[in-house]
Amino acid sequence: MGKYRYKNLLGWQVTRTDGNTARYVMSTIVTKPKHPNKVTYPNYPKTVHQGWNNAVSYVSSCKHDGYNWTVNDSDWSPDHNVQYFVCNATGARARKGMFDVVVDCGAIFTSWNDGPPKPIPMIKGSEYFVKALEKHAPPVVPKNPKYLEIVWPDQKIPAATPEFWVALRDKCREYAVALGEKNLKVMLACQGGHGRSGTAAACMSLVVYNYLCAKTAVLHVRTFHCESAVESVGQEEYIDRLSIALGGTTGAKETSKINDSTVAFLALPAKEGSWLAANQAIIMAEQKEEVKM
Ligand SMILES: [Zn+2]
Repeated sequence: MGKYRYKNLLGWQVTRTDGNTARYVMSTIVTKPKHPNKVTYPNYPKTVHQGWNNAVSYVSSCKHDGYNWTVNDSDWSPDHNVQYFVCNATGARARKGMFDVVVDCGAIFTSWNDGPPKPIPMIKGSEYFVKALEKHAPPVVPKNPKYLEIVWPDQKIPAATPEFWVALRDKCREYAVALGEKNLKVMLACQGGHGRSGTAAACMSLVVYNYLCAKTAVLHVRTFHCESAVESVGQEEYIDRLSIALGGTTGAKETSKINDSTVAFLALPAKEGSWLAANQAIIMAEQKEEVKM
């Protein structure tokens, strides 16, 4: 650590203009920006980062640990539904037991032994009770999610073709039916829960909601998941290319100029009965709830 300029700065906390508290920690120190494509979001307080942007990269304390779904694939079967969540590494490790499918975009579970999970006794304690009751209390078998790893370097894009995302959607639907699962839960995970998994979620939103617009897809993920989702120009271009392949329009790159994705998402013109209109209604209902609280 001795050669670095900011050796005493290991972490700091700021109150953002929206009133939320964000914590930042030093994770990588570079003298020049390593990722010229990196988008700096105006929502992060500039005063804190002044002069630091090129010296430190940060991990913010976003609250996406797997409980906020980002894309909901529900219009293909009356009996089944596939829900896509975005997780960062911490959330992904802690929550993997609640998912049926894990799509690892950030080499989080590379060392994971995907063997059958060991049953956990449902009851433990004094022999007096356990001996008598264990035959009526079968051991709990944890979920053993189907696992898919996508080789995907940080800040970059995967080699996956547009058809990949359509096939992933279909395979997840197929698995929901095979498993007899009403709500199949799919985790999209990477280290920070922003770049790679956010891009994957934007791709899923395009193939699930038929948005036919890359800008809509990026704003969707930033509204439903996190303002920092999709973090490089390369990733935005990748979403543009998927949209074109599906017969849609581009516009993902324009989103880096947008300050408040939720406002922009709600302002998108939506046809009545479209997925966009339905998703805007979800956000508006959430905003009403927040006002009430
Ligand atoms: Zn975040």
